[in-house]
Amino acid sequence: MTTVAAYAAPAAKAPLERTTIERRAVRESDVLIDIEFAGICHSDIHQAQEGWGKAIFPMVPGHEIAGVVSEVGPGVTKFQVGDRVGVGCMVDSCRVCENCLKGLEQYCLDGNTGTYNAVGRDGEPTYGGYSQKVVVDENFVLRIPDGISLDVAAPLLCAGITTYSPLRHWNAGPGKKVAVVGFGGLGHLGVKIAHAMGAEVTVLSQSLRKQDDGKKLGADHYYATSDPKTFEELRGSFDLILSTVSAPLDLGAFLSLLRTDGALVNVGAPEEPVSLNLFSVIGGRKTLAGSGIGGIQETQEMLDFCAEHGIGAEIELISASEINEAYERVQSSDVRYRFVIDTATI
Ligand SMILES: [Zn+2]
Ligand SMILES: [Zn+2]
Repeated sequence: MTTVAAYAAPAAKAPLERTTIERRAVRESDVLIDIEFAGICHSDIHQAQEGWGKAIFPMVPGHEIAGVVSEVGPGVTKFQVGDRVGVGCMVDSCRVCENCLKGLEQYCLDGNTGTYNAVGRDGEPTYGGYSQKVVVDENFVLRIPDGISLDVAAPLLCAGITTYSPLRHWNAGPGKKVAVVGFGGLGHLGVKIAHAMGAEVTVLSQSLRKQDDGKKLGADHYYATSDPKTFEELRGSFDLILSTVSAPLDLGAFLSLLRTDGALVNVGAPEEPVSLNLFSVIGGRKTLAGSGIGGIQETQEMLDFCAEHGIGAEIELISASEINEAYERVQSSDVRYRFVIDTATI
């Protein structure tokens, strides 16, 4: 076991504070990672505040982890000391179910093991990336290509794959009109990735406040959803709408923006159930769908794609003592566009 400095929430809704945690000794197929950067995802806040149901405390959040391998177990074949690596939202799965065998570990039928706020298959609680080191089985470790710096790569491990996977699955590409709802941590990466895939990209944001950034990062069009004219003008326009917001949406209004056979895919999750008049999907044979992160192989594909296209997150680098303030700013949508913790300051 190794004692490691970390930032943890001692209880639901309590501010995060510096503490220490134990990391397990490196096992046969484990990799020890010296964490350099950890992104702050909105879901860290939902979980630390128990907005998504009962959570495990103390909680060390963080599932956007980038660092360097500092030790490998004797059975490790994919990584060496010194490799630049990342860890995303899961650190294990059953590995034998239908979904795991298809590379869809995120949808493991036995439940994937979350990077934090979970109990590992060894019965021990998992702790996330707001810490200086982490031990992870090599099969759940990603390689970060040399072309991306570790600080802007960290958010790709959750925000990047969460947008990449549905864009791929619903065939974003040349000739396709894609709308991204929300222009925050997820949305700005969705725009960059959809643009790099060759789609015509529209941002649907509450206001036009971030329009200049949107256009600079790859959006062809930018509309305010607070303006009712937007919904008239864009009626029946899109092949795919990717909603990245966790505030409740008027789903019927957004479904009306789809073409026949279009899909509205949610990757953000409101804390409360939503309601929908089903005529919104019956007319036009529309799909209302959801998508969660991506499998390990697809996450690697996403990192390679981002490196090839020069895509990293737009970040505000902070020290660990600024985490609580950053949480407040994320909740008021006051971040351009992802906070990343320099873990050397923990
Ligand atoms: Zn996340
Ligand atoms: Zn499984």
